Amino acid sequence: MNAVDIMKYKLTEIIRLYNSKGWSPATSTNYSFKVSKDDSNFYVSKSGVDKSEFCEEDFILVNQHGEMVSEINNVKPSAETKIHATIYRLFPKTCVILHSHSIESVFVSQKFENEINFEGYEIQKGFEGQTTHEAKISVPILENSQDMDLFCRNLMDRKLDFICHSFIIKKHGTYAWGDDLFSAKRHFETLEYLIKVASKDF
Ligand SMILES: [Zn+2]
Repeated sequence: MNAVDIMKYKLTEIIRLYNSKGWSPATSTNYSFKVSKDDSNFYVSKSGVDKSEFCEEDFILVNQHGEMVSEINNVKPSAETKIHATIYRLFPKTCVILHSHSIESVFVSQKFENEINFEGYEIQKGFEGQTTHEAKISVPILENSQDMDLFCRNLMDRKLDFICHSFIIKKHGTYAWGDDLFSAKRHFETLEYLIKVASKDF
């Protein structure tokens, strides 16, 4: 298998695993990857696929703006592909982006404005750059929007806030990314864990 096929295989396994956790109901969520940070094109999940049945053929190649590289009948990239393109542009070392519609992130996002803070949790060290549970860390919360251009402008305005390689969208879900599949997965699972802990306070 070449590097692209290996990534498709590994990410497909993870997409199905995350679906089994309830993080992608009703065809929701989207995922993307590139093999090298120097690639301008990236692979993103197709729109409208049941994530419990996701397979390697459900990735499509798009350019740096999130537009399909070659037209395929009745196939389109996820509506949120522009969010992926913006994250790759903001953080050029990124090679994998993960997304969830977890119920806990929806609960938590309604209780906080603008950001959620965490302090004292051992798992905070799952975010690259964090070396102690004693640090106070902040994860941005952004307003949801169907206007992807507006949403992506808001994302760019908050570039300096993304120290945890992730964010929450209000009443929607989470995004996390990394330089490879291992680090994206670690950031994503760290955030989902912290959100789950926070949601127990309500
Ligand atoms: Zn979504």
